[in-house]
Amino acid sequence: MKNNQVVYPGSFDPITMGHVDIIKRLAKSFDRVVVLVSSNAQKKFLFTAIERKEMVLDALKGTKNLKVDIFDGLTTDFMKQKKIDKIVRGLRAVVDFEYEMTMANINRKLAPNIETLLVFASPEYYYVSSRGVKEVALNGGALKGLVPENVKKPLTAKLKSLKRKNDAF
Ligand code: ADP
Repeated sequence: MKNNQVVYPGSFDPITMGHVDIIKRLAKSFDRVVVLVSSNAQKKFLFTAIERKEMVLDALKGTKNLKVDIFDGLTTDFMKQKKIDKIVRGLRAVVDFEYEMTMANINRKLAPNIETLLVFASPEYYYVSSRGVKEVALNGGALKGLVPENVKKPLTAKLKSLKRKNDAF
């Protein structure tokens, strides 16, 4: 096992300031943070996995111990391949709790040696979600403080290119 490395999996569709905050905090505590961008074919995303990965890399330029990978499959399979045994998920309000607990228990069943660590969202980002920022952008609201600078343009452009607003979610 590679010690002191964590995998932070998610959709990052797109990366928000809440994600950036968690990644920066993890980068201080762990030797390496692997952000795992999901490319799950069953799920609908606004951005392609490559676009999402590029936005993560751009938003966190200068974070030396960061790696960003794309994976289509079970997070635990990726972790076994890479020999990493810690998953980190972010926790916002109580509503996140049940989902995260279920995921952590499924992952424990699949891979008993992999531990899930939960990190609380910083208070200023408790309300920030990818879905929320898409709704703000779709309705022409200000994105300042919600998404990193590099995400603003692609997000607005991508939403403009949609035929139906529902395709954003
Ligand atoms: P998923 O579709 O896997 O939930 P997300 O990209 O929405 O992927 O989120 C990835 C992880 O980041 C999840 O653990 C989620 O709870 C966490 N997260 C999302 N937004 C925030 C935020 N504002 N602050 C802290 N953690 C967050």
